[in-house]
Amino acid sequence: MARIQLKAAATVVGHAASRRLVRGYIRRRINVITASPPELSTLVEHLVAVKPDLRPQEIGPRTSLTRDLGFDSLDLVRLAARIHEQHPEADLTPWLAGACQAGADSVGSMADHLARARRRDYVALARELAPAFAERAARHDADGGFPHENLAELVRTGYTAMTIPREYGGDGAGLGELCEAQQVLAGACASTAFSVNMHVHGLAMIAQLGGQDAEWVCRAVSEGAVIAGGFSEPGVGGNWWHPTTKAERVDGGYVLNGRKGFFTGFPGATHLFLSAATKDDRGLPQPMAFLVPKPDEGIRVIEEWDAAGMRATGSHTLAIEDFFVEDRWSVGEPGKLPLLFMTGVHWAWCSFASVFVGIARAALEHVTATQRRRVLSVIGKPNAHLPGVQFRVAEMATRLAAARAHLEAAVHADHDTAGPIAHYLDMSLMKMQVTRLAHEVVTLGMQVQGGSSLVSASPLQRMYRDVIAGLLVPPAADVVLEWAGKHALDVPIFAEPRWAE
Ligand SMILES: Cc1cc2nc3c(=O)[nH]c(=O)nc-3n(C[C@H](O)[C@H](O)[C@H](O)COP(=O)(O)OP(=O)(O)OC[C@H]3O[C@@H](n4cnc5c(N)ncnc54)[C@H](O)[C@@H]3O)c2cc1C
Repeated sequence: MARIQLKAAATVVGHAASRRLVRGYIRRRINVITASPPELSTLVEHLVAVKPDLRPQEIGPRTSLTRDLGFDSLDLVRLAARIHEQHPEADLTPWLAGACQAGADSVGSMADHLARARRRDYVALARELAPAFAERAARHDADGGFPHENLAELVRTGYTAMTIPREYGGDGAGLGELCEAQQVLAGACASTAFSVNMHVHGLAMIAQLGGQDAEWVCRAVSEGAVIAGGFSEPGVGGNWWHPTTKAERVDGGYVLNGRKGFFTGFPGATHLFLSAATKDDRGLPQPMAFLVPKPDEGIRVIEEWDAAGMRATGSHTLAIEDFFVEDRWSVGEPGKLPLLFMTGVHWAWCSFASVFVGIARAALEHVTATQRRRVLSVIGKPNAHLPGVQFRVAEMATRLAAARAHLEAAVHADHDTAGPIAHYLDMSLMKMQVTRLAHEVVTLGMQVQGGSSLVSASPLQRMYRDVIAGLLVPPAADVVLEWAGKHALDVPIFAEPRWAE
């Protein structure tokens, strides 16, 4: 068993390292030419209108406006004015001030800038949707019903498509934008944010695989598909890489049998992303991932989600019974599930952490707003004048700032060239620490508010029950601490026995 684990880990690390190198290279190339062809051809038309002697066929994404095309400052100003006239939403000033002055004035970089300026702002969208979600949050929490209408809004407005990369026709929202938008949603309704989180980060992870898997899932999502993910199992817990759900090879596909726990977002999902293990030629288990349209038969709810926190996430327990899955629904190759996960772990852990930071932000806002208003007759002034309230609010703000800074650092870390284990641990430690801080912020908020924070009418008690889920969702803290400690101390992580005898 120990040897198998060691070998599996080595395979993961080896593949992940080479994939990272390749992805880093592709991304660096794409950085220069991410603009989609329509944007590029529109831009070329503008360039030719300003300088009619240009030959369009000689203009490419890497062509420099100043060096290759001879644009002087007057030409650039005329170009900016022309573009602004036709696309008032697109402001070229930041590009002129940045890319152009830094000598990075390629046609591709300008087209890229324009594309970004013209696309949807998902943080603004989250802010637009948040008030209605906040209004419904208490009702969904009370009855434990799934927020179908919130999810429908997220689909209708294109929020669920935000992480479709531009090469697959989407807006390609980056990790930073996703995390900020998720914080806003979580502050309004944590259950809605956590449910859609399984979709947006899962989509981003599959999309980064590229190829047919990415292509069809992006197309399905742009047509309204919603993904829920089921990797946890009773008896496996958060040790996802060892699924006990079996995938038996049959003609044309696999037959799945097993159990899934905590299937967040199941009631609203159109597609299920789930794991199972098949046996290879040597009889060894190989974890696999499948993304299947939600079936009418073969998967059934055996226990409805009825929990203390995140009550409206519909995180049901499911039985998978003789469920036939065609080959075409498998994602990646057998045995590569851990690889898929490790290469995309920043999408998972940063977005998870964002949900809980969002709850903490909302808690601090709620507490400060209440304490400014609430007057105790014994002091005859708002509670905000009490030193204890001031100290605890300052403690809340400090912890929140630390959580946000740690999350930001992880969002902007180099996700491509760090070693896979170090990268996985950085992201995991961040998620662990950020969710702990978020939990402390809300707990301090309860102390500041006093007993009234416990009554069901107070949004703080819901936040308190929701934020604790951050400590329970993966990665398991003990596993992270073990791995990180061993890594720091140069003790082999996957060696057996795990502890000194
Ligand atoms: C609100 C909520 C929503 C969720 N949504 C989803 C979802 O959509 N999809 C999904 O797949 N899962 C989901 N999960 C499940 C989650 O991913 C974890 O798998 C699950 O919470 C862990 O299982 P467990 O709680 O049974 O704990 P276990 O994994 O059994 O852990 C119990 C304890 O043992 C420790 N432990 C576990 N493994 C080890 C180990 N190898 N070495 C040392 N210590 C260990 C842990 O640190 C913990 O203290 C959700 C969980 C929650 C709370």
